[in-house]
Amino acid sequence: MAIILPALPFEKNALEPYISSQTLDYHYGKHHNTYVVNLNNLIKESDLETKSLELIILLTADDTTKTAIFNNAAQVWNHTFYWNSLTPNGGGTPTGAIASMIDTDFGSYENFAKAFKEAALTQFGSGWAWLIIDNKKLSIIKTSNADTPIAHGIKPLLCIDVWEHAYYLDYKNARVEYIDKMINHLLNWEFANKNLTL
Ligand code: FE
Repeated sequence: MAIILPALPFEKNALEPYISSQTLDYHYGKHHNTYVVNLNNLIKESDLETKSLELIILLTADDTTKTAIFNNAAQVWNHTFYWNSLTPNGGGTPTGAIASMIDTDFGSYENFAKAFKEAALTQFGSGWAWLIIDNKKLSIIKTSNADTPIAHGIKPLLCIDVWEHAYYLDYKNARVEYIDKMINHLLNWEFANKNLTL
């Protein structure tokens, strides 16, 4: 079974003016797609070829001979999760079950937003910032390069891609502006609430 590139959950221009359709042409059409193509080439005619994406990630996470497979598989998964973490007219204060959990675990939405921004901003080099749930408690973590919470048995609820390819066309080097726009206008709280129930 080949790994496929899932369709975007919104139109190419739906995240404007915060993320341009040009960024999505490259980020989704080139970067995400290339991870899919690379992964399929790397697992061709191996015992991983018939496995699900999640299982490929788990089976290669601690195997230094399969780093390239892990990196491409994790990046396929992370990007699909990232697109779902974004929605037009999103961001700002959450609704639903996640809202009260944020108040309990962070003290307030403002504290959460500050901590999420700090994690995304201080991830050195390429990587990801994640809102996760572990032992029924929300927290924020960051991962480097392709690394993903699911490789460590941790359940993510939302993420922000902080690789330069995510923001350079729209924000140049100003990662902080990109992060602010994501948190204030694009985070998909409905997706986070759905992940809580899975
Ligand atoms: Fe990316």
